[in-house]
Amino acid sequence: MIIGIDLGTTNSLACVYRNGKAELIPNGLGGYLTPSVVSLDESGEVLVGAVARERLVSNPADTAASFKRFMGSKKTFPLRQREFTPQELSAFVLRQLKQDAERYLGGEVTEAVISVPAYFNNNQRAATLEAGRIAGLHVERLVNEPSAAALASSMLSDEDEQSYLVFDFGGGTLDVSVVDCFQNIIEIVAVSGDNHLGGNDFDERIAAFFCKSHQMDLDALPPQKQAVLRRLSEKAKRELSEKESTFLHMNIDGEDKAVILNNEILIGCCTDLFDRMERAVVHALRDSGCTVDDIDVIVMAGGSCKMPVVAYFLEKLFGKKPVMIGSPDEVVAQGAGIYAGIKARDEEIRDVLLTDICPFTLGVGSYNPNDRGRNIMTPVIERNSVLPVAKTEYFTNVHDKQKEIEFPIYQGESFDCSENLCLGRIAIAIGQAMAGEARVSVTFSYDINGILVVDVVDDKGTNRAQQVFMSEGANLTEEEMRQKIEELKKYRISSNGDERDRLLLARGKRIYQELIGSDRENVAAALREFEAVLAVNNRRAIHVMRQRLAELFGVYEEFLNEEFLNEEFLNEEFLNEGFMDKEFLDKEFLDKEF
Ligand code: AMP
Repeated sequence: MIIGIDLGTTNSLACVYRNGKAELIPNGLGGYLTPSVVSLDESGEVLVGAVARERLVSNPADTAASFKRFMGSKKTFPLRQREFTPQELSAFVLRQLKQDAERYLGGEVTEAVISVPAYFNNNQRAATLEAGRIAGLHVERLVNEPSAAALASSMLSDEDEQSYLVFDFGGGTLDVSVVDCFQNIIEIVAVSGDNHLGGNDFDERIAAFFCKSHQMDLDALPPQKQAVLRRLSEKAKRELSEKESTFLHMNIDGEDKAVILNNEILIGCCTDLFDRMERAVVHALRDSGCTVDDIDVIVMAGGSCKMPVVAYFLEKLFGKKPVMIGSPDEVVAQGAGIYAGIKARDEEIRDVLLTDICPFTLGVGSYNPNDRGRNIMTPVIERNSVLPVAKTEYFTNVHDKQKEIEFPIYQGESFDCSENLCLGRIAIAIGQAMAGEARVSVTFSYDINGILVVDVVDDKGTNRAQQVFMSEGANLTEEEMRQKIEELKKYRISSNGDERDRLLLARGKRIYQELIGSDRENVAAALREFEAVLAVNNRRAIHVMRQRLAELFGVYEEFLNEEFLNEEFLNEEFLNEGFMDKEFLDKEFLDKEF
């Protein structure tokens, strides 16, 4: 069986295509989002998902998160005396998703379509393929996340030809892509974005607003207070997605401090963030040669698109409402699931061809006459070229009696090579040519799997050099891969008992660490009691304890989050439920020139 997987930085999801539709696969807790967090417990068992996320606080040294950011790099994560690569950790997440899918579907899952950001470079793509292989999955294809999102929305449309703008706004990054769907061809035309703009920035602004309102400096607060304030700010931000206003309250040095928040205030604190969102959109449009009017459908993806102010920003910018397919967290997984259906040749689904583009410029570093120590970038394949692509540029030598020319190969957009990613070097002998005498062609061929072949030939055709540039991951031999899979087999994905109970225990242990005194003792006693009923597997007692623990932990979490919440605040009239005030937004946005 084949499934689609959105292997995300924060959360991962799996999706299967059956009975004519994409169906998200629930995890052991019944939800669709599995946090991309991995933890190793005392017995060497691997915990993945919500349980592992709790352990980020209680057992940070044995737990890793956000490893997708380091895919394809040399960074490793130490967990219990072993260093894990990001692809090994991702493999654990994939193994968990595979296991959940097999349980849900009642059959073996052997293949997967995995989505990756469109800007993922060679190394990152190869690392993702390696993660799939370690997890025992044959990766049928890597699909670009915006293509998957566009595919999911194109399935809802009867139009033959549409242009999509996929606005994927997560916790820490914004990816904007223009995707064309023509008949059955889905093609990414341009990708752009901001690697340092996401929901976290909105949290930060709310926290800063709180501090400013009370003449405090956020950076001057003790780190633990800062962490609590950031958590409360994120919570307040989420509340503004549901209701018109909320408040942020915290006890600082024994003093109750609070501010009222609404979407009007949020916009006021974040105007420059909206400007940056706009810049990313304009950049993608410019690269694609489109204007706002050429875009037929705006698809929202990523958790931060749940903010009403984001939908409103897009509506004002494009003059039409953006669409949301299910939840913005799920649209990429849905697309990957649909593509899995296409690969499985499901008869109920029309065939679609997804084309890829080269997300970065590829080029060679050339001699800089003004600064000999610093190479400058000469592009050979421009970013956003449709794959496969081959391009040739010609070069000559700069020194008399030069015996060879060496070409450093770079990936990136910077004029200065030192700011781009060096993929390697290739050299060619040119005899003892005088300066400017040799003529050498350099041909770059970049294929659909992200493999770059560089071919260098002198004009007489007597000298030739050819080299394949791939990532280290892709260079693993079959034998090395087999050994790695064998070695990682000893790390079993935990499947002891009910995942709900494991989550409760992990949550309790995290809360225990955050409390002190008698509260801490209360939690310890409850945990001991729960472990005792789990040990004898007393079903009825387990059921009763689950409810009691959930209630107790809920109270303590509230207490920890709100820090001595003042009841009066909760009863204030301004906390009435309701949706945001669109009229205000109209005024605010209309004042802005887009
Ligand atoms: P992602 O990386 O796509 O999982 O997005 C995570 C980001 O989405 C975080 O910054 C969250 O705070 C934000 N987010 C999740 N749910 C909501 C919500 N209901 N309202 C506003 N922001 C949200």
